[in-house]
Amino acid sequence: MITAQAVLYKQHGEPKDVLFTQSFEIDDENLSSNQIVVKTLASPVNPSDINQIQGVYPSKPEKTTQFGTDEPAAPCGNEGLFQVIATGDKVENLHIGDWVIPANVNFGTWRTHALGEETDFIQIPNPSQSRVNGKPLGLTINQGATISVNPMTALLMLTHYVKLNPGKDWFIQNGGTSAVGQYATQIGRLLDIHSISVIRDRPNLEDKIDELKEKGATQVITEDQNGSKEFGPAIKNWVKETGGELKLALNCVGGKSSSGIARKLNNNGLMLTYGVEFITKPFDSGYLSFFYSINMSIALSSTRVLVESEIIEATIIFSPDTGKIIAIFPQILELEDPILKLYNVYIYKNVTPRVIMPGLVDTHVHLNEPGRTHWEGFETGTKSAASGGVTCIIDMPLNSIPPVTTVSNFQTKIDAAKGSAWVDLGFWGGLIPDNVCDLIPLINMGVRGFKGFLIDSGVEEFPAISNEDILKAMKEVQFEKTMLMFHAEMDHQELALDSSLDPTLYSSFLDSRPDRFETQAIGEIIQASSKFPTIPVHIVHVSTHLAIPLLAAAKQAQLPITAETCFHYLSLTSETIPSKSTHFKCCPPIRTEYNKKLLWDGLRTGVITTVVSDHSPCTPQLKQLDKGNFFEAWGGISSVGLGLSIIFTEGQKLSPKISLTEINQWCSINTAKQVGLSHCKGKFKVGYDADILVFDDEAEYVIDNRDVHFKNKLTAYNGMKLTGRVIETFVRGNLVYNSETGHSNVPLGKLMLEPRIE
Ligand SMILES: [Zn+2]
Repeated sequence: MITAQAVLYKQHGEPKDVLFTQSFEIDDENLSSNQIVVKTLASPVNPSDINQIQGVYPSKPEKTTQFGTDEPAAPCGNEGLFQVIATGDKVENLHIGDWVIPANVNFGTWRTHALGEETDFIQIPNPSQSRVNGKPLGLTINQGATISVNPMTALLMLTHYVKLNPGKDWFIQNGGTSAVGQYATQIGRLLDIHSISVIRDRPNLEDKIDELKEKGATQVITEDQNGSKEFGPAIKNWVKETGGELKLALNCVGGKSSSGIARKLNNNGLMLTYGVEFITKPFDSGYLSFFYSINMSIALSSTRVLVESEIIEATIIFSPDTGKIIAIFPQILELEDPILKLYNVYIYKNVTPRVIMPGLVDTHVHLNEPGRTHWEGFETGTKSAASGGVTCIIDMPLNSIPPVTTVSNFQTKIDAAKGSAWVDLGFWGGLIPDNVCDLIPLINMGVRGFKGFLIDSGVEEFPAISNEDILKAMKEVQFEKTMLMFHAEMDHQELALDSSLDPTLYSSFLDSRPDRFETQAIGEIIQASSKFPTIPVHIVHVSTHLAIPLLAAAKQAQLPITAETCFHYLSLTSETIPSKSTHFKCCPPIRTEYNKKLLWDGLRTGVITTVVSDHSPCTPQLKQLDKGNFFEAWGGISSVGLGLSIIFTEGQKLSPKISLTEINQWCSINTAKQVGLSHCKGKFKVGYDADILVFDDEAEYVIDNRDVHFKNKLTAYNGMKLTGRVIETFVRGNLVYNSETGHSNVPLGKLMLEPRIE
């Protein structure tokens, strides 16, 4: 019996926070006939291993209980060298003492031993086998342990993208002393391809140059020479002498170094940028930054692009394959610009004078599927979002049936959402009495946080919570990466409904939900927050301006409280709502013109941090428009996808007018942060998701119920004249909506189920 150990994690996060070692047993005396046991000789720590643990790498290992943990846990490490120490009786090709590496990724190489089958491994020669093969040096343990990533990267780059003629053609690379760089040099020599390695100046420069030349570099130059114009002709001569071309540049440095090697390429040359670290350079170098450009990409430019809280002239290059922004240049590129070629751009559009800005992240949307799919649904809801430049929405835990309050309910929701999202789609969990023990399992399944009601929610499957429930929940999740959100209305002192009130008048309804319902509830939440100040708390849909001083004081006291308001509270007012117009009913209610002004102030002073739709549709029957009784009609306003035009139009009436950068802050940057996605969404930055909208801020149009994409074509905005319209929407680099051609045929949104890392 072998007692082995492995490094594992149960949830994503920083390695120092989430890694642990686990002992497990391997019964090497009773192997089944195809099994082998290996022991680890060495395993490296690659940057991608760390990214996997953080949860930001595309591929990841399955979680398992095979290491004997109580909850499923994932092993770490992808590369490693193992030695066979025991074999079953039917194992044919491997013998004790052989060296092997894992045949597949996500093997989990940070461990002392492993049990597997022959097919789980690939044999590489051990030192004695190398000697027999006439290669006395053989592989060292370190080389064996790192043979599957770096040498393969170098080989792939030299052979897969450009045809290089042996004996004639050249490639140039920066980072010439890096691991991949040195492999490229050696493989280049084996393939008879000439190479130029660029290296940093250093004290023992001549020694380093000799060493690289010995390994196979044809020429070695310094970064200074790479950057100098005078040195260009020398390189041209080298290439001329061999009768070939300089066709390929390998970049792992970025900035000036990469433009240096790119300039030396012949016409139709290709630059490949590799490596996982994002490299950023300030504006003055002419390049914002680089990521990588192996795939085909799309470029959009305009004199008005919203980058880093400014509207500037820029070109954004992004990949529909990886979904990421690859590069941002602070100028409009000419069609012939070699940069477009370098990035394999196959679609390039200059959309001036339209604005290119980051997609909206709407964190408060009720899509009601499954169970109340006749109210809305993933397809119609996400298509509406796409039509208005909303590239990511977070679905509320109610009014679907079942609500997202348990693991199995959440699974039902996920199954219903698969394959029907036109934009990226994340989920909130629900906080109800008695589901405290479901909270952490739901966090591990990827809910962005939880919402609870301090007042009747309107649906029986989602009961209201008490103050005690709030404290219990805060205690339970106080050290988790999550957020608790509250519908903050509370009716402690039951209002005696005056039977003389006319229920078809909006003012009657408004009187029944006074401001103090909100302020009382917010007061209680602030109290609770002060007892558990590690857990972020968020007040959804603030409608009364009287909440603003309370929230400001809580912030002053360093409590982690944020608050949102909605497009309707910023654009509609109680004074203008006609009687019987129950499509204006929502809770908390739309209040006065005066209140609206002060909400805008609360937003612009940063007390209210986000603006969302609270898209909450239902069927026209439930709105009971014929009866027009505000007390009996279902509450909720549909507006997902209309928000950008609404807030932009309304904001033009303010002094000073609101800017698109403010909207970006409230509707993209701050909302992305609220849901733990600020590392990939909300702004234009290299390596971020290419969630992009093209906005015509001069277009004028009138909202017509018949044109909306909702399942039930009923809004509170019918007939409203708006300025500004979304022309195109890209989700992770893919066009999902165009105002002339409509939506993409296939849903390209993805379900955002990665547990929060921020
Ligand atoms: Zn809501």
